[in-house]
Amino acid sequence: MRVSGIELRLCRLELFHQVATSQSAHASRPVVLVRVLCADGPEGWGECAALAEPTYTAEYATGAAELLAHFLVPELLQSPVLDDEDPAREAMARLARVRGHPMAKAAIEMAVLDAHLQARGQSLAAHLGATRPSVPAGATVSVGVPGEVVAAAQLVEAAGYRRLKCKVAPGRDVDSVRAVAEAFPHLVLSVDANGAYDLGDKEHRRRLEMLDGLGLMAIEQPLGPDELAGHAELARLLETPVLLDESVEDPGDLEAAIGLHALDGLSVKPGRLGGIGAACAATKVAVAAGLHVAIGGMFETGLARAAHLAVAALEGFDLPGDLGASDRYFVPDLTVPHELVDGELVVPDSPGLGRRPDPERLAATTQALAFGTSGPGAGEALTWTPAHSSTRGLPRLEL
Ligand code: MG
Repeated sequence: MRVSGIELRLCRLELFHQVATSQSAHASRPVVLVRVLCADGPEGWGECAALAEPTYTAEYATGAAELLAHFLVPELLQSPVLDDEDPAREAMARLARVRGHPMAKAAIEMAVLDAHLQARGQSLAAHLGATRPSVPAGATVSVGVPGEVVAAAQLVEAAGYRRLKCKVAPGRDVDSVRAVAEAFPHLVLSVDANGAYDLGDKEHRRRLEMLDGLGLMAIEQPLGPDELAGHAELARLLETPVLLDESVEDPGDLEAAIGLHALDGLSVKPGRLGGIGAACAATKVAVAAGLHVAIGGMFETGLARAAHLAVAALEGFDLPGDLGASDRYFVPDLTVPHELVDGELVVPDSPGLGRRPDPERLAATTQALAFGTSGPGAGEALTWTPAHSSTRGLPRLEL
């Protein structure tokens, strides 16, 4: 594969339902997109999982945009010929010189993979060896008091979801989740604390024990990302499976967590783990260790959602995940929407990711663009330019 140019876009989409976690409120979604142009085949698209603020992991969207423009894209364009058999793996190996930043790197991997598989006429699901035609969908509702959470759950149930994840925080947890469980006994319920509880706090511990009595599918990331010993204690204490999300960013974290028996299951997010290849590898390790596996969500547009549906269709994903239909997130979506069918989402089966940005939506949501080509000057940083006259709401990015 010969990469002739790479375009970066910083887009902003309004979330249809605002989502509040214990750490952050999300009303709109900045999205960094990567478009890889090939001299000898179709173009490919990738999407960066980084959110507006560095409150989930250390990465954030405009930071990822800068990193891509200054380091990752110039690195790739300097030697633009990639191994025909596995160009995504070679691209990621090349980018390993830059420390960290799994989400920014994963966006490039996704775009290279999309271009490669389109050239081969193969879907991502087929490439990964996934066989399920559809996967169970999930919806997430904000942390809140019982009335708010039940009202939000009502919409989710009416839309046809069978699985609901309630964001929780100490004090906005047991009563809300119990009310939802009583109002909607058929919904499969889980909670996600995004690390908000402290096991040293007696009240927090008591609340976690009360959540344990509600028959939940899982309690996700109750303690802080670095609290592996605490999670091990909780995994022993609670009947409910403890799922880790933020605590596992790389293979070393997963090995350590498994060694300490700090988890009963893993939330697999390709962005956090450093790409689709890394996510598949982590899934294999988790399944071999006897863990539950669920696909996680990052308020993706239809583009990354298509990729993550292919990952979720792999053997081993035994718990319903976070991925919902497009209309839970963006109306309209950046791509042809993903729709709920009998509580499930169809895994795309057309070549590559199976979705591409709609040109009109792309133009309407793009705030800034940067473009670089291979050849002379390829190692230099890309320069961002405003996409149109309106660049309002574009934080921290020098234009
Ligand atoms: Mg989570």
